[in-house]
Amino acid sequence: MSVIRQNLQAVRQRITDAANSARRDVHGVELLAVSKTFGADAVIAAAEAGQGAFGENYLQEALEKIAEVRATRPDLQLEWHFIGPIQSNKTRPIAEHFDWVHSVDRVKIAQRLSEQRPAHLPPLNICLQVNISGEASKSGVLPTEALAVAQEISALPNVCLRGLMAIPEAVGDAEQQRAPFRQMHALLDQLRAAGLKLDTLSMGMSGDMAAAIAEGATIVRIGSAIFGTREYAK
Ligand SMILES: *Cc1c(COP(=O)(O)O)cnc(C)c1O
Repeated sequence: MSVIRQNLQAVRQRITDAANSARRDVHGVELLAVSKTFGADAVIAAAEAGQGAFGENYLQEALEKIAEVRATRPDLQLEWHFIGPIQSNKTRPIAEHFDWVHSVDRVKIAQRLSEQRPAHLPPLNICLQVNISGEASKSGVLPTEALAVAQEISALPNVCLRGLMAIPEAVGDAEQQRAPFRQMHALLDQLRAAGLKLDTLSMGMSGDMAAAIAEGATIVRIGSAIFGTREYAK
């Protein structure tokens, strides 16, 4: 059995265990396999092991990989999620080639994605990224700005605002990990109470997925636990 298949099984088991401990239905937690820095062959191996949704951070790398996977295995129906930083002059290929974007952090980006979404495709699913730990170096809107930004985005025609995304500051302890995820859940509830129809909390990575699931994550974004340690070229 391939390593990727084995790792996927282990990750699915961790998700199931975390959902059970939180008394949540495991079907309410979707696994996004983050394939950045890994090749089309790794994506295909994961897809053959039943994985359908893939997350990418770097646009050029992602576009080449998506094209290669489609050319090699046109039979695979995969969903592609963009989860990396977005430059405003690079929105068009994102609008054209992805099903979801998790890393929208300003209205202008959402406007461009909406304008550039091809008419033959369904609205692009997007999440608003929130800088929940308030780190100066991190992108994302501040929690206090989230409602106003979400209201503007949800009025756009060709994007569908689905919820919120966060990458909290890394902390070791499982109990400490839960605090920012709990704040994200509360923020989502606040936006819903204001009338926005949102169903997604994209949070949790290889090191903190259990804490995220305990606090209500509906999409966990898992890279290294599936594909192994990343090595960055250069
Ligand atoms: C790389 C990345 C992940 C996956 O991280 P792992 O620790 O490898 O699971 C998830 N989300 C974002 C935004 C990432 O950039």
